[in-house]
Amino acid sequence: MNICALGYVGVGSPRAAEWDAFGAEILGTPVSSQSDGTRFIRWDDRAYRLAVHASDRDHLLYVGWEVPDPGALDEAIENLNRAKITAVRGTDEDCRTRQVEALVRFQDPWGFTHELFYGQRTLLSFRPTRDIAGFVTGGMGMGHVVLALPDLKAAVSFFTNVMGFRVTDFIDHPFPLGFFHCNARHHSLAVGQAGPVRGLHHIMIETQTLKDLGSTYVLCKERGIPFAMDLGQHTNDQMLSFYVRTPAGFELEYGWGGLQIEDEKAWRISRIELPSFWGHDPKLKAPPTTMEPIPGKDAGIPS
Ligand code: FE
Repeated sequence: MNICALGYVGVGSPRAAEWDAFGAEILGTPVSSQSDGTRFIRWDDRAYRLAVHASDRDHLLYVGWEVPDPGALDEAIENLNRAKITAVRGTDEDCRTRQVEALVRFQDPWGFTHELFYGQRTLLSFRPTRDIAGFVTGGMGMGHVVLALPDLKAAVSFFTNVMGFRVTDFIDHPFPLGFFHCNARHHSLAVGQAGPVRGLHHIMIETQTLKDLGSTYVLCKERGIPFAMDLGQHTNDQMLSFYVRTPAGFELEYGWGGLQIEDEKAWRISRIELPSFWGHDPKLKAPPTTMEPIPGKDAGIPS
């Protein structure tokens, strides 16, 4: 499967309307709304990168992965069929809704809905809503998405063998994490085995400048935005970042300076003990509301 970038993410939330202020005033990302209450959040020339749909609860609805062309979609369907996974082509209405030329939808073994697409609508201009330079996207996609699921080993097998991601590295603590790439970005996808829970943990958006990371950090403090993790620097992708709890219940990692894999052939997978060189002190005890316990499994985090 030839996935080239993380294209878009869709979530449901009862507080979709709060993104008008959170996106535009805090993150610096323009927000538009449609009549059913959906909020579309932009951070580059694409029509949207995050869609927040009105819902009675916080949950991840779909993750949109970009493929280069129609041939890649056909090939993906064959891959999925071989893996005994049902792939459904999006209708014309689906494509209009997602603002793409074509898409294919399927569920992974943990019940997450993935959409493979090409041709997302692109607008002529993008202007951040605050005095910031903008975000690192282009060929590296919108950022990264981190999912919680109960079986990292099975996830590595699925995301590499079926979806074609390459493993970047692993982190052992505070729970086992696996990181995957599909372009130069250190990871477009990560999965954490944080006990018997599944769901969306966080999405990462990367600023072009350190100044903009700093000004947003200070603004979040001034405006009382709930921090999930304070400023810190990750060991594996070396990202300088902080995490806030969004109005849709998941966490947003606002980062700068992420490592890029310049030479795929020279890359070696490592297993790293800890997630951060410094900082990233946890500030919220409750997990993101987009994560839910898996029924019938004992609570607890594996050591
Ligand atoms: Fe992250």
